[in-house]
Amino acid sequence: MTTAPLIEAKDLVKTYGSHPRLIGKSYPVRAVDGVSLKLMRGETLGLVGESGCGKSTVGRLILGLEAPDNGSVTFDGSPLARAGSAEWRRSRARMQMVFQDPLSALDRLLPVAAQVREPLVIHKFGSQAQMDKRVADLLNAVGLTAAQGRRLPGELSGGQRQRAVLARALATSPDVLVCDEPTSALDMLVQSQVLELLAEIQSKSGVAMLFISHDLRALRRVSDRVAVMYLGGIVEEGPVNEVLETPRHPYTQALISSVPGVHGLNPNRILLSGEPPNPTQRLPGCAFQPRCPRAVQACSYTAPTLRPISNVSHRVACHLLHTGLHRPTP
Ligand code: SF4
Repeated sequence: MTTAPLIEAKDLVKTYGSHPRLIGKSYPVRAVDGVSLKLMRGETLGLVGESGCGKSTVGRLILGLEAPDNGSVTFDGSPLARAGSAEWRRSRARMQMVFQDPLSALDRLLPVAAQVREPLVIHKFGSQAQMDKRVADLLNAVGLTAAQGRRLPGELSGGQRQRAVLARALATSPDVLVCDEPTSALDMLVQSQVLELLAEIQSKSGVAMLFISHDLRALRRVSDRVAVMYLGGIVEEGPVNEVLETPRHPYTQALISSVPGVHGLNPNRILLSGEPPNPTQRLPGCAFQPRCPRAVQACSYTAPTLRPISNVSHRVACHLLHTGLHRPTP
């Protein structure tokens, strides 16, 4: 028996108007270029890639905060309603977002407990007493005291603020949490505590999470599966341990090799040649071709598609793995 995905995105495309240049000409930026993904109930999918690869845009498209130019998003078996409609607002109660900067996500003039209460009021959770209890339970669940709940966001530490954001996001018992770089504004120790909290929330509540991050170590701690993005597209996806231990796409290999170990930079890290990707200048063929140390001629004119390798749930978009054009790893 197969289980239907909670969220299914198909062939999402998002192009932003244009970026004016000095000479007056403008260029469209294709931030997301044909992304398809599935998020199952109760799982955490990590979405990783360099900054500007389009991963945050994918998060916003999935929540309906922006409309795709092409493609579709299905939530719990139904097409995601148009943003702003009553149906979309009902869906949004079941899909919440946690942002990178908790201070800008919170109202600086309102005590955090009142902000945790807001979604309960909006979605008519119950009586005043029921809401009081729910707020107290939520603060407790994220490790905040009642006294901290009475404070303004500016009176809390960065980690406490992110806990308050999480409590608010969980208020309506969502089915999905989209966490966009939720720990990157925090110091190392607090990052670790928030990741532990996210993993605990996920295992207790069964909420599905899309965890967007450039930090592979953070992603590994909370994810079941991972999708690696490069220049608007997914280049590799699969079970997190398999992808991170045996990466098959040259970009994933370079990304993983660049993660410092306990003794500092990896002496065997793969250094990419060429310029960082320019989303306004799309070349034909594989998007990674200008920087790929293993490119062959076909890479410059044919774009590879995401296809399964040995394990059907591990998929890679690279000609070398599907056409027998193998060249040794440098
Ligand atoms: Fe490199 Fe070619 Fe594979 Fe693209 S398709 S990642 S350029 S080898």
